[in-house]
Amino acid sequence: MGSKADRLHMLFFPFMSQGHMLPMVDMAKIFASRGARVTLLTTHVNANIIRHNIDDSFHLYIMAFPSAEFGLPDGCENESLIHSEDQHINFIKATLALRQPFDSVLRNLRPDCVVTDIFLPWTYHVAIARGILTLVFHGTSNFAVSASKAFERCRLLMDQVESFILPDLPHPVEMLKTQVVDLNNLARNQTEIIEKTFNEAKEVLSKSYGILMNSFYELESEYVDHYREMKGRAWNVGPVSLCNKEVINKSTRGGKYPTSVNECLKWLDKRSVGTVVYICFGSGSFYSVEQLREIALGLEASMHSFVWVVQNKGHDWIPKGYEERIKDVGMVIKGWAPQLLILNHDAVGGFVTHCGWNSCLEGISAGLPMVTWPLFADQFYNEKLLVDILKVGIMVGSKVYTTDAKMRPIVEAATLTTAVRRLMGDGIEGEKRRRRAKELSEMAKRAVDKGGSSYEEIGNLMHELIERKKHV
Ligand code: UDP
Repeated sequence: MGSKADRLHMLFFPFMSQGHMLPMVDMAKIFASRGARVTLLTTHVNANIIRHNIDDSFHLYIMAFPSAEFGLPDGCENESLIHSEDQHINFIKATLALRQPFDSVLRNLRPDCVVTDIFLPWTYHVAIARGILTLVFHGTSNFAVSASKAFERCRLLMDQVESFILPDLPHPVEMLKTQVVDLNNLARNQTEIIEKTFNEAKEVLSKSYGILMNSFYELESEYVDHYREMKGRAWNVGPVSLCNKEVINKSTRGGKYPTSVNECLKWLDKRSVGTVVYICFGSGSFYSVEQLREIALGLEASMHSFVWVVQNKGHDWIPKGYEERIKDVGMVIKGWAPQLLILNHDAVGGFVTHCGWNSCLEGISAGLPMVTWPLFADQFYNEKLLVDILKVGIMVGSKVYTTDAKMRPIVEAATLTTAVRRLMGDGIEGEKRRRRAKELSEMAKRAVDKGGSSYEEIGNLMHELIERKKHV
């Protein structure tokens, strides 16, 4: 990769949530494996989450997180540890207070480039003030970026319609108003700080050197092109999770080797190929007790084996006698699960997902058809991509965008049962979906292999940055 002086030094600074940290750690590992000198900046608690999954190919730089100053419980340094809207606002304020420490890190390390997180847009201004080039990590699909841009253009018409077609996209994409407008009644000051971050993020997207996307060209080529036409510079370098090849890497992504790994593998090993449904709704999506009960009963009635990850604390949702009844067909993991390991086990044949972008891409990489159950953020857009464009998804019928589990209409057990039966069913429709999912998985693997589109994008970007470094 050239002489030592030419070696590119990249600093990654992920937002403190699993959905951002895990793909950025993967990305950091990939750039390090391609010859860059890489530093990843994070806080103590988050360092403990990721250190089990990294080797010494890159350097972890740790700074303090001001939890106490912002009234957060000790150790509350990750979005998944937040339990109320007030805490969420304080958490965002605490990240803003990292401005000064971040500047000191830049002064000490003098990296050639900062990969800043879209959710920490202020880092752009700090880096630019020090004359350091910034790339933005954007944790979603090209499709979702194009769709949300299209939505901005028709937002003003929203009062008059129930549904609408997003304008100027390569495909006609119809959305319900309730799927794009947050129904949460956030207090005024809460809305303000979140809106400010979003607006700053938009500005940074247009001003930064370019954008790193965890996707691959062949998956959503029309939207990669569409986005480039609108905005310019974007590099699609994923699916980055494919860099976790061994059982140990897949198991430790997101924390130390979970106790559930051995039990889970033993359980899956006993099942026939493609017979198990995996259900997980990401790292921070909580459900009402009523909804969890419906999910429990819906899975039981589907007559398919399942592994279900429940992030909610407490056991008050478990229907009477449930665990005894399902013990031969279902495994419930309470807390963190080794998702990559499970998705890639031969026994797993389908995935019920909340459509967080990492989960979508991990499902695609594993060659699985999916039942889509979006809740908020970009998830409704990702659902459209999986169902209408890639044709590997079946909608469960989620229609309301809200972060508040209590405000979300209940999806009844019977609805989930029907969706799971379609997902796992033998008919022509199911076979076609499965075949398509396998093809996408092959494409994903080819993209990250030597000579593949994502592999080449990384090479091109690094070459460009090294050339630039020579001339500044
Ligand atoms: N994840 C996991 N185990 C869990 C829950 C989540 O490994 O029990 C990982 C999952 O593989 C994915 C990330 O956490 O990489 C969640 O990101 P996603 O974008 O899917 O959803 P988010 O948590 O941001 O809503």
